[in-house]
Amino acid sequence: MYRLVPSVCSYCGTGCGVLFEVLDGQLLKTLPLKTHPVNQGKLCIKGWNLHEFVNSRMRLQSPLLKVNGRFHDVTWNRALQFTAEKLKGIIEKYGPDSVGVLVSAKITNEENYLLQKFARAVVGTNNVDHCARL
Ligand code: SF4
Repeated sequence: MYRLVPSVCSYCGTGCGVLFEVLDGQLLKTLPLKTHPVNQGKLCIKGWNLHEFVNSRMRLQSPLLKVNGRFHDVTWNRALQFTAEKLKGIIEKYGPDSVGVLVSAKITNEENYLLQKFARAVVGTNNVDHCARL
């Protein structure tokens, strides 16, 4: 079955509207959404290729943990537990301002809000920056 599925480009915070061409559940192509008020039928080169990563064999399917110089697949619980333990250790040893949080235009406003809240209320630092400034 052939379908056109409206969505929003996830590559940057501009939020261009796209149409995904889908055939039998397989994502084939990205088209610009002509009626979208942000991009009005235009896309940059990243938007035109938005579908490419979805079926890529290079796409990460699970978190990776580096042990003895080699990456290993781990569960999300293991990755989060490891990260929390490392962060806690760094904060205890060097203080909260030894940690910084980098947020992203690729996530939602709500997720960005939660991350700055995590930095300030949980970690105790104002070291928050955004990929648009990097
Ligand atoms: S098409 Fe380009 S400008 Fe538009 S949201 Fe995607 S990356 Fe950003």
